[in-house]
Amino acid sequence: MVDILMDPAAVAGKAYTTALAQFDKAVSYLSLSDGLIEFLRFPKREYIFHFPVKMDNDDIRMFTAFRVHHNIVLGPSKGGIRYSPHVTLGEVRALAMWMSWKCALVGLPYGGAKGGVIVDPKQLSLRENESLTRRFASELVPVISPHGDIPAPDMGTNSQTMAWMMDTYSMTMGYSVPAIVTGKPLNIGGSQGREEATGRGVVIIMEDAMRRTFGYLDKENTSIVVQGFGNVGAHAALHASQLGYKIVGISDVSGGVYNPNGLNVNQLFNHTQHGGLLHDIVDPDMELISNSELLELPCDVLIPAALEGQITEHNAGNIKARLIVEGANGPTTPQADEILQSRNIQVIPDVLANAGGVTVSYFEWVQDLQYFFWDEDEIMRQLRRILLRAYDRMVGFAESHDLDLRTAAQAYAINSVASATRTRGFYP
Ligand code: NAD
Repeated sequence: MVDILMDPAAVAGKAYTTALAQFDKAVSYLSLSDGLIEFLRFPKREYIFHFPVKMDNDDIRMFTAFRVHHNIVLGPSKGGIRYSPHVTLGEVRALAMWMSWKCALVGLPYGGAKGGVIVDPKQLSLRENESLTRRFASELVPVISPHGDIPAPDMGTNSQTMAWMMDTYSMTMGYSVPAIVTGKPLNIGGSQGREEATGRGVVIIMEDAMRRTFGYLDKENTSIVVQGFGNVGAHAALHASQLGYKIVGISDVSGGVYNPNGLNVNQLFNHTQHGGLLHDIVDPDMELISNSELLELPCDVLIPAALEGQITEHNAGNIKARLIVEGANGPTTPQADEILQSRNIQVIPDVLANAGGVTVSYFEWVQDLQYFFWDEDEIMRQLRRILLRAYDRMVGFAESHDLDLRTAAQAYAINSVASATRTRGFYP
């Protein structure tokens, strides 16, 4: 258990420093009053939970968890729950803030939230994971609701985690409440396409970026490197390879694999789906490399889809990709952004590039509230329409204000939330 008041490291985090630096830069291009800037800069509510879980050996272990509601002006707050031994309140604050801007840019009627539990889920048995999740869900009952705050999966959590949360909330209410979380399995009110939505969205945005940046699409001759082979990275790599792109490098927490002629993504996916790590695969066609080597591989497109703070002032000068599409949240530091810009490497920011997940989460929530479900073609058609419209918005704002894409995306989003705040007025 972590005592937040006694341990400054539990609050700090490079991600929050990055989020604030990006925010300060974006608002400097907007005409907002100091008070409004302060309102938008700080989280609305932050919850810290400490709770016990009975482990398989009958020991009682205490866990610490967070839920941050950054802003709720545009609608209920929305954001995933992360299970990680390294998660801090600062990291959750940053992720909640990015959710506010992502939803506003894409045009979803949501505010931003995020949650985290300090735990390594790989060290838990299935039963311990279920107990932890159900206990955390019961702690969240006063904080979440289908019209107030709607969690979803993030790193270290998945559709099974969401099923346990939905069941725990529903048992407490006495009736089924599918709209309490998104990213659920299909058979309990999940949506077609949600599992792969973030990765599919990354590829939709990547293709549009290639058309705009390179002026053409040449699938067989476009090499892609993906960092992270979880929900986002694996589905982005699988979908891109199905479309005919050459995936030359992929990594997970164990390190990377590289083949300049293209990797067999299906084979890697089948191996890792059952808990295997990439570095356990024995294949003479693949070179084993480190995560830092992976980021600097020769390629056309780099998709960071693992953690924050991966592209920094230390490696931005060595990146060889022409285009970076941010599947992860916050993978590029502000210092790295400047280096990449000076080297003419186009970065498609996280708030657009990985917005496919929250967009299909929105579809799932709407379907759950209406008890009326759509087919996969409809989901993918609407996903493409919404993401490409947001891309146009970002580029329009960038061109009219002469800004880089990240600053434009965030400034557009912050301005939308500011405008709604002004229209609503300040209570009382
Ligand atoms: P996940 O837990 O499914 O997968 C994470 C992957 O990253 C795993 O392959 C893991 O092995 C790898 N990884 C962990 N530490 C690493 C390290 N130090 N170096 C390299 N790889 C490492 O998580 P996810 O849901 O795919 O999320 C990945 C990122 O995408 C996060 O930044 C998350 O916030 C963001 N994101 C996720 C979603 C979603 O729908 N799941 C939506 C938007 C954004």
